[in-house]
Parts: sequence; C-alpha cells; structure tokens
Amino acid sequence: MPNAARIERIYGQVVRRNPGEAEFHQAVKEVIETLAPVLAKYPEYAEHKVIERICEPERQLIFRVPWHDDRGEVQISRGFRVQFNSVLGPYKGGLRFHPSVYLGIVKFLGFEQIFKNALTGMPIGGAKGGSDFDPKGRSDAEVMRFCQSFMTELHRHLGEFTDVPAGDIGVGAREIGYLFGQYKRMTNRYESGVLTGKSPQWGGSLVRREATGYGTVYFVEEMLRARGESIDGKTCVVSGSGNVAIYAIEKLQQLGGRVVACSDSNGVIHHARGIDLALVKRLKEVERRRIADYADVHRDASYVAGGRLWDIPCDIALPCATQNELDEAAARRLVENGCTAIAEGANMPTTPGGVRVFQQSGIAYGPGKAANAGGVATSALEMQQNASRDAWSFGHTEQRLHDIMSGIHRNCHEAAAEFGSPGNYVLGANIVGFRRVADAMLALGVI
Ligand code: NDP
Repeated sequence: MPNAARIERIYGQVVRRNPGEAEFHQAVKEVIETLAPVLAKYPEYAEHKVIERICEPERQLIFRVPWHDDRGEVQISRGFRVQFNSVLGPYKGGLRFHPSVYLGIVKFLGFEQIFKNALTGMPIGGAKGGSDFDPKGRSDAEVMRFCQSFMTELHRHLGEFTDVPAGDIGVGAREIGYLFGQYKRMTNRYESGVLTGKSPQWGGSLVRREATGYGTVYFVEEMLRARGESIDGKTCVVSGSGNVAIYAIEKLQQLGGRVVACSDSNGVIHHARGIDLALVKRLKEVERRRIADYADVHRDASYVAGGRLWDIPCDIALPCATQNELDEAAARRLVENGCTAIAEGANMPTTPGGVRVFQQSGIAYGPGKAANAGGVATSALEMQQNASRDAWSFGHTEQRLHDIMSGIHRNCHEAAAEFGSPGNYVLGANIVGFRRVADAMLALGVI
C-alpha cells in the first residue's frame, strides 16, 4: 500500500476508535501527515505497525474525585491520566486543572508529549492527566482537599520509575505541594522524583518555574540566528499571563525584546511603553487577580475585554495560553503586519489553517513540541537531581536548559533539510521525535 494511503487509513481508524475527541484527532493528523517520507526511507516502521501502536495509549485512567467545598457541600470532579508511551522512560507529562478538560484534551496533550519528550533526548516517556476541576475562585483549603482526593486515587498508578506528573494549566507549585503531600502520606515514602515542578525549598529544581518560557525564547533566538537576526530591539506580543507567558516575557526582555501585550482568558493588555513584568507577576502569581487590573495601575496601558491580541503589530509572537487560540485569520493578520517569528509556548495553540499560513509565508515558525520542550527537559533535570540527592545552581541548570534547546533546534533544522523541506520545523520536530520513539519500539518488541 502506498505510504500516503496507509497514513490516511491509520488516521481514519484513530477517528473511528476515538469518537468525539476533536483535539486528539487534530494532534494525530498533524504528526502522521508528515511521516510519509520517513516510512519510505525506513519501511520497517510500517511493517511493524509502529504508527498504529503509537496512536493507541498504553493505559487510560478515568476516576471519580469527590471533595468537600468550603460550605461543606460534596463536589464531584473527574480525574484523568493517559499513560501514552513508555519505551524511552517512565511516563512523564503534566496535570491540567481546567473546566474544559475531557479525555480528548488529555489524549492530545499526551500524544504530543511522546514526541516532545523524545526531542529532549532525555529518558522519559509520554503521558498527560488532569481534571475538569476549576481552581479559579477556590480557596487554598478547597484546592488542597481537591488535590488530596485526586492523589488518593492516582497515587497507585505513579512512581519515580513508573509515572512522574508535573504542572500545566491550573497546576503550579501550590497544587504540586498538596499532591506531593498526599502521595507521601499514602505511600509512607519521601519519593522526591515522583512529581516535578516542586518548590526548590523541598526537592524542586531551580529554573523549573522559568524553564518553559525561557526555553521557548531560546528557541526563537536560535531560529532568528539561523536567519542572521536577533531578538534585540524587536517588538513582541505574548498571549496568556500564566507560568509560561510570564517567563517568556522575562527572557524576551532580558534579550532586548520590547513586549507590548499579554492577555488572559478575559481580555488583552496593550502597553506600548513595554509590559511591566513585576506588576504582572504580582497580579497573577501572588494575588491571583485578573490581567484587567493592570490598566488600573498603568493609566497609559489599554485593556480590551475579549480583545484580539494577534491584531497588534509585532515582529515576534508567542502564543503561551491554550490550544487553538490562534486561527487562520489571526495568522494572516500577524503575517500582514510584518511578524517574522512565531514560537509556541502553549501546546497546539495554532489551528491547522493558521499553521498553513505560517508555512506558506516562509516566516520562522517553531511548533510547541520543539519550542516548549524546555519545561519537560528541566523536569528531567529535576529528576536527575532527585536521584542523586543533589541541587544544582541556577546558572548551571539554566546553561543545561540552553544547551538542550540549542540541540533541539539543531536536530529539527537538520532533519527538515535532510527530508527536503529546509526551515520546516514542523516536519523536523515530528521526524526527529518519531524516529527516536519508533526505534526504541522496534528494539523492545511488540509490547
Ligand atoms: P497557567 O495556568 O499558568 O496559565 C494559563 C494562561 O493561559 C492564563 O493566562 C490563562 O488565563 C490562559 N488561558 C487558559 N485557558 C485559556 C482559554 N481557554 N482561553 C484563553 N486563555 C486561556 O498555565 P501554563 O502557563 O502552565 O500553560 C500555558 C500553556 O503552556 C498550555 O498550553 C500548557 O499546556 C503549555 N505548556 C506548559 C508547560 C509548563 O511547564 N507549565 C510546559 C509546556 C507547555 P486565565 O487565567 O484567564 O484562565
């Protein structure tokens, strides 16, 4: 069977076997439609049905999470963990707490995570999990009770050699703390390496908090360097104002970029003089407030509820909020306004139509799998430190992150050229990630 037809058939099977999971279908299509030249060069992958096996998670868990709110009322949330692939190492991937979470979101994230983790070159498999619990507006005590109930079920499926979760949307150091506390209590083991994203005060790694945002900017730096350019003096916009966005803004500013806009799910802040990052950190990290409050402090900044961030002219745009936040029309606006580099801090933030616009325009476009891999890579560094009961300095850990991101960029760049599409980081990232996983799957047999 010709490889294009084989891939079409596999995609049809994925859609049939996973009905209603649109984001998962999208993520699978984006990867496998780039793999025909790989199957042509390495027919053993088709012979051993590697793609078909990769598309089927090794294990999927769905569980009830009952908890009491502050009024004493019982609430019932739903928990998920999809352990997708473990040929390269223990399952690894974050937990997302957001009302939009359902199986299709967890599976899209877990699927992408397989290839992202492979790209880092570290010994980690792919997984993702979370809950439809919404931490917004909940007290610390409610978040703690929820996390304890969530971990009461999940703990039996985890372990430093089995499955190592971390944070994602709605899950930061506070939630990781409560989750680790309950894991320790249930198992009677201080198993630091079972969760990453811990506070450096009790087993976490320096730079993990900053890693995804910093890493995304390092990826931009490399893409621009390959074109003889740099970040210095460039105008930038960053969507979101959470963990990834904040540290992407920080690194852009350190490298001379002028960040003029950021957002949250309610609206957009535009501050032509440059975003005051200390204020964003205080509003979002300390006081857990909305980005709208930024404009109350800086009267020369504008806030537009439901505003369109991607209409703001810029040289560099970093989507760092959520999936499918940048559609075809927004991509066209960015290109028309002269944007020359996009890197995805978020997972799958650009719709397929948007990706086509970027690729046709020839601008530098770094897909999330490659561009935001610095977070999970630094989680793997946290696991290394835990295993050796060591704690590295900020400078040493940041240098490791920087080297990993340069390596990912180089590998993607070279693979894209080797497979006849120079500068196509989507193709490069998919091929490098897929081949590392596929070769390990062949070596480990049909399992
Ligand atoms: P946070 O929860 O810290 O921040 C998320 C940000 O995105 C908030 O500003 C939030 O606004 C906004 N947002 C979330 N959902 C939506 C939505 N549906 N529409 C519009 N805006 C939304 O999460 P992170 O910064 O950790 O994660 C952001 C992205 O980065 C996600 O795609 C995640 O998967 C990805 N990522 C994260 C990594 C990490 O290390 N944390 C690693 C790799 C990727 P609001 O507060 O209004 O909800």
